[in-house]
Amino acid sequence: MKSVWLDVDAVLADFVLSAKVLFQSRGHDTNLLKPATNWDFSLEFNPAVGRAEFDSVIEANADRFWRYMVTTPEASRLVNSCLENFDQVNIATCVTSARARAARTMWLTETFGTVFGKVRFVESFKAKAKFAKEFDYLIDDSRDACNAWRDAGGRSLLWRTPLNSGWWKTEHCELANEMIMQTIEKGVL
Ligand SMILES: [Mg+2]
Repeated sequence: MKSVWLDVDAVLADFVLSAKVLFQSRGHDTNLLKPATNWDFSLEFNPAVGRAEFDSVIEANADRFWRYMVTTPEASRLVNSCLENFDQVNIATCVTSARARAARTMWLTETFGTVFGKVRFVESFKAKAKFAKEFDYLIDDSRDACNAWRDAGGRSLLWRTPLNSGWWKTEHCELANEMIMQTIEKGVL
């Protein structure tokens, strides 16, 4: 059976934009913020909010934050092309708290319906590799997750974002991701 596993944050859901919306609702002027450039972006996201406060605000609002997250522009096309070209489409996402996992489960169902074969939550990006099988693909924006998946015998495709590519120009990322989607749509994988 040909399976693909999809990451959620930065692939299907826009975590950074969703966090900005949350912090705006709490009175932070996010227009003053620099664009985030790496995954430990709380300091860049807002110099007035440290990592601990950033995480605690997200967790305090977990029920609505993870349930009403902004969908990425490519999410629907990516999921649909995977459904058409793989036998099973699964989700592997790194979300730790029970409230966040429950809310993310609702987001997945409310956004895409019950189309996914398996939905698995892990404690770390690398832990996704325990699901890797020889011909299974992982599409993920985390290099660590992609490399661990490949080391475990699977095949991975790095989903490009300004956070992982350092290219600074979103159009480069869009082009690379467009190639991934066209490759899936042509049934090449
Ligand atoms: Mg991700």
